[in-house]
Amino acid sequence: MRTLQDRVKEDGVVIDEKILKVDSFLNHQIDAKLMYEVGQVIIDHFSDKKITKILTIEASGIAPAIMASLHLDVPCLFAKKAKPSTMTSEYYHTDIHSFTKNTTSTVVIAKQFLNEDDHVLIIDDFLANGEASLGLHRLVKAANATTSGIGIVIEKSFQPGREKLESEGLEVLSLCQVSSLLGNKVKLVGE
Ligand code: 5GP
Repeated sequence: MRTLQDRVKEDGVVIDEKILKVDSFLNHQIDAKLMYEVGQVIIDHFSDKKITKILTIEASGIAPAIMASLHLDVPCLFAKKAKPSTMTSEYYHTDIHSFTKNTTSTVVIAKQFLNEDDHVLIIDDFLANGEASLGLHRLVKAANATTSGIGIVIEKSFQPGREKLESEGLEVLSLCQVSSLLGNKVKLVGE
């Protein structure tokens, strides 16, 4: 997606050779128009699938996920990173290791929002080692639902996330593929 790729090149800040900061349009301040476009491109790609729900993880996956759910007119469910006291119903849970924070947290979704009839499109902001997407896929499986695909805004292709997801038989779409962050420079696949 050209507009997104240009934005990543222009506004992306290289933190180190593995981490890219995109706080100006995705991870802190959000460019709603760009996310609206992101959501459209993702759902167009998976238009042959009968998707009943979008699933993401708080917080940064919510912006692209809610836009996809708006275009598709299906609910957007996000996994919570800690079980709130208000979650009194039964819930599915799994442990996810965070690449950026280097911590593991137990993420939860209430059982009432996912069931065996659901066909789920997982959406996240970044794909690095695949831990977040794989964790969400485990929650889908726990509910006996089906993962229809994975939509990612920015994939760091030099990390093994895609390989891991594809080896689980999952189809991955990413809208911007970063091939390297070496030398403080964002290099995209194909450049
Ligand atoms: P994974 O679970 O695939 O290893 O990493 C993806 C998750 O970690 C995403 O949910 C995202 O929030 C975070 N993440 C991974 N790499 C980056 C990065 O380079 N920049 C930012 N801002 N977040 C990242």
